[in-house]
Amino acid sequence: MAHEPFELADARVLICNDDGINAPGLKHLEKIIRGLAGEVWVVAPETEQSAAGHSLTMRRPLFVRRVSRRRFTVDGTPTDCVLLAIHQVMKARPPHLVLSGINRGANLGEDATYSGTVAAAMEGALLGFPSVALSQLYEDGAPVRWSTAEHWTGEVLRRLISARWPRGVVLNVNFPNVASAAVTGIEVTRQGHRKIGGSMIEGVDPRGEPYFWIGGGRDEDRGRAGTDLEAVHRGAVSVTPLSLDLTHEPAVKTLKTVFP
Ligand code: MN
Repeated sequence: MAHEPFELADARVLICNDDGINAPGLKHLEKIIRGLAGEVWVVAPETEQSAAGHSLTMRRPLFVRRVSRRRFTVDGTPTDCVLLAIHQVMKARPPHLVLSGINRGANLGEDATYSGTVAAAMEGALLGFPSVALSQLYEDGAPVRWSTAEHWTGEVLRRLISARWPRGVVLNVNFPNVASAAVTGIEVTRQGHRKIGGSMIEGVDPRGEPYFWIGGGRDEDRGRAGTDLEAVHRGAVSVTPLSLDLTHEPAVKTLKTVFP
């Protein structure tokens, strides 16, 4: 079943992220959406929560702090933020659209399972709202091309909203690391492969305890046509619809032969 239709110009939009309330990508997204939508609400983590995945805080209380009008922080995860936004902050007037980002860095392939950015959008979709995750690729040490995401976000959102995608489907949008004028277009893709590489820093802490530090290196397949990875590395904006139902249908059939 598709989402109810709405006009972006009149919409109430909830923005979350995983880079935290002070992240530049959040400010860029707020600026873009203020120019496109009726009302912008921000509920974002107090501190950076990158790679928090779909983690939920259950063993301690959560505090919502109001920073300014329609702008709040939560001392928790991106998922906590969306839950509290929907059930508390925006209880009387729920959003028409939930956006997460703009993340500093790609969320491609299997990143979707680690990403706090994608998880915030997943929580929005679980609660029944049209939800979109937005990420800007960059190279370590180089400035982030926020202007590319800024230039293309409006166009991507307008077209997506007109498509009225099914409930329970999260849209994962990645902007390529090229100047906005060099973007080749917007392409619908499928999840590619991008696992965490083996690069791990080993060291010894000041108390003599050995430690390991998981590196940012990725072992990725940029060559497979039709994937998010191939599209962004060719200079396109990638839009991947992700299902919250993780069931692998062909495996259901295979397993039923041994558990008839
Ligand atoms: Mn992040």
